[in-house]
Amino acid sequence: MYMYDTIAAISSAPGEGGIGIIRISGEEAISISQGIFRSKSGKNIDQYSPRTMVYGNIFSGDDVVDEALVVYMKGPNSYTKEDVVEINCHGGYVSLKRILQLVLKGGARISEPGEFTKRAFLNGRLDLSQAEAVMDVIRARTESSHKEAQKQLEGSLSESIKDLRMKVSEILAHVTVSLDFPEEDIEEITMGVLREKTQGLIGDMEELQRTSQTGKILRDGLKTVIVGKPNVGKSSLLNAMLKEARAIVTDIAGTTRDIIEEFISIRGIPLKLIDTAGIRDTQDIVERMGVERTKGIFEQADLIILVIDSSVPLSKEDIEIMDMAKGRNCIVLINKIDLEPAVSEEEIRQHMSDKKIIRVSALESRGTEDIEDEIENMVYSGEVTQNSNVMLTNVRHIDALQKAIDSAKECLNGIDSEVPMDFVEIDLKNVWDYLGEITGETVSEDLLDVIFSQFCIGK
Ligand code: GDP
Repeated sequence: MYMYDTIAAISSAPGEGGIGIIRISGEEAISISQGIFRSKSGKNIDQYSPRTMVYGNIFSGDDVVDEALVVYMKGPNSYTKEDVVEINCHGGYVSLKRILQLVLKGGARISEPGEFTKRAFLNGRLDLSQAEAVMDVIRARTESSHKEAQKQLEGSLSESIKDLRMKVSEILAHVTVSLDFPEEDIEEITMGVLREKTQGLIGDMEELQRTSQTGKILRDGLKTVIVGKPNVGKSSLLNAMLKEARAIVTDIAGTTRDIIEEFISIRGIPLKLIDTAGIRDTQDIVERMGVERTKGIFEQADLIILVIDSSVPLSKEDIEIMDMAKGRNCIVLINKIDLEPAVSEEEIRQHMSDKKIIRVSALESRGTEDIEDEIENMVYSGEVTQNSNVMLTNVRHIDALQKAIDSAKECLNGIDSEVPMDFVEIDLKNVWDYLGEITGETVSEDLLDVIFSQFCIGK
């Protein structure tokens, strides 16, 4: 158990709200809050049992600053495993700021972003993958994303990694045997077992790895761009799709205010729309942005939804856009099928032979189900289903697992080419360490700082 100074922060979201919460964690949490809080009953908060809401007032000298409900959680039975106090006051800017100032004057220091969760990790309440899941739960945009984050928070990924590491340690035990008794007859058998077990381990790690594409999309969104020349029905289509799913607009805190992210939820899959502004003003995307930038956007996108107006013949622009979408993940929508057709599916297929083509009418909301089916199939491809037990969602975890797999493969090569056992042992220890990076057993102080700095203040 680490001992730290006492930290405090406003833990509720900025802005006005019915309630605002100030969180204090550390050895002095209770005494500091006692110094500024008087309960109606006249009793000190620690005369109540932990996790009891105590009603009273926050004072600055003899002035009442606000009414408050104060609750304390005695370490180690708290979020950080330290003594934690939460002051629930009115959720206005001035109340929260004044109370926080009083807490700081009382001896606490303002917390860094993510510091409460960092302490929870350092004090062993959560492992690193669970700590990261805390932010994913907060930031989830769809129910499916939320479900994955929640599972990770509960420790589903931690369990898988623990199992994998257990297997690594079993293999290491075999290696140690052959290192300790090199001249024994058991070596032949050991090598066979060693090989088999390493192969099994690689198989297990690859199985987890197969969930990463879907997992990453659920966490970060499927970057999607809707393209087509003016008046093909892009914004109508977006609106038709939005009928079932409201757009979720977020401006990213901590970066320039004009970066707006817009998400729509398609059956729980967050579609992160790129350049929605370009869809809404009906100028031609290629003309307005130039070919290079359009290509750039196409390259960024995980999915291109290309819209064609079936009521007018194909134009040079349609063909230009179709050419740019070649080789990319693209769904072609033939829109306005409620009108007399001027272009056939065959014609479009000549340009986009390998793409899924869906006939729709944005005006009549026809075909939107098919679009959703297609997106769902695409995201939950292969073995990954909505009910997969564990999913790898975080790029950091995906990278670490890849390194673990690479090391395990090197270990296997070593076994096959009969390198000295010491080398095999080194590769195995690398597998062990890379897996440990995911749960934070083997992770550098610098990396921890980077991870927790991405958290919000007060979490
Ligand atoms: P954008 O410039 O690509 O965003 O196109 P809009 O969504 O603004 O649509 C251009 C025009 O086509 C509007 O008048 C829409 O009402 C009309 N439109 C869009 N989709 C359909 C459709 O499926 N059927 C018909 N008949 N008209 C449509």
